[in-house]
Amino acid sequence: MKVRGGKGLFLGLSWLAFALIAAIAAFVVYLIIPRAVELYFALPIILWALAGALLAIIGGGLLLITIAAFAGLDVLYPHGGDPITMRVLFPVVLTLGRILGFDKERLREAFVDTNNALILAQRKRISVDRVLFLLPHCLQNHECPWKITYDMDNCKRCGKCDIAALYELSERYNTDVRVATGGTLALRAVRDFKPTIILAVACGRDLAAGIIDAHPYPVFGIPNERPNGPCFDTKVDVRKVESALKELIGASKTNESQ
Ligand code: SF4
Repeated sequence: MKVRGGKGLFLGLSWLAFALIAAIAAFVVYLIIPRAVELYFALPIILWALAGALLAIIGGGLLLITIAAFAGLDVLYPHGGDPITMRVLFPVVLTLGRILGFDKERLREAFVDTNNALILAQRKRISVDRVLFLLPHCLQNHECPWKITYDMDNCKRCGKCDIAALYELSERYNTDVRVATGGTLALRAVRDFKPTIILAVACGRDLAAGIIDAHPYPVFGIPNERPNGPCFDTKVDVRKVESALKELIGASKTNESQ
């Protein structure tokens, strides 16, 4: 499955942030060298070595993330989805991107794209025994009288919203499916179900927060569409969701193949 091009934006900004940090670190060491050499003759070498080691660790981690995201190679092993690095990178990229004038929502979706690319790179070692399909309540048509947050079986599959098609997908791919009215309830569903992987549909803001908050559970995110404004009668490209399910779970696990 092809992930959206936002990972180029996210990783480009990450490398820019890294270059800025490296320049600032070099400048700080350069400034304190005259004082350091007075304290101990070898202190400047020690300071340069420490700064170099720190930058090598950060740059090495970023290089592995870049290779995994673009080449699809599972080079992050054994660190899993490298969520800690991603957790640190996200606020840095968000801040730098905002300073450079990028839209916040675009930056969040770029983070989600990068996260998805890393999950796809590692999918062979992520179990699909317990897949949780998390959907936002705003996908449900606002006039629908049926309470699907309690039980998705209440959906009458009238086709007025994407819930019917998504429910059908969950049945075909044997996934557990929950509709959550917010991040707290989504996290509760995760804690209750203890999935091996989560496929989540939500806005960029909720997906970015969910990916970080759900750690250590891997979350593959698909942003919804908001033709009627935020949180109201939202939609999702069902073909894109099925493509993600196929890629993550594999056609062999569908009911069709039974
Ligand atoms: S598809 Fe289901 S959730 Fe959507 S409006 Fe119809 S009955 Fe309600």
